[in-house]
Amino acid sequence: MSCEPGSTVEGEKDEAPTSFPPIPRPARGCDVCGALFAQWLRLRDPRSDAYDRAEAAAVEREIQLHPHAGE
Ligand SMILES: [Zn+2]
Repeated sequence: MSCEPGSTVEGEKDEAPTSFPPIPRPARGCDVCGALFAQWLRLRDPRSDAYDRAEAAAVEREIQLHPHAGE
């Protein structure tokens, strides 16, 4: 991996300038995803008493892996 300026790889998109972790995308209308997402928001908030980065990562995977019919 190279971070040198000017070394662009063709076909690669620009990375976002921030280092925030990817936000999971809960499926619309899915109660499970919605609940998991609300939980995730609390788990990843350092000011929340539920703050737990490892747990947040686990919940994030759950959201991403939650199966939906018709997808
Ligand atoms: Zn879902």
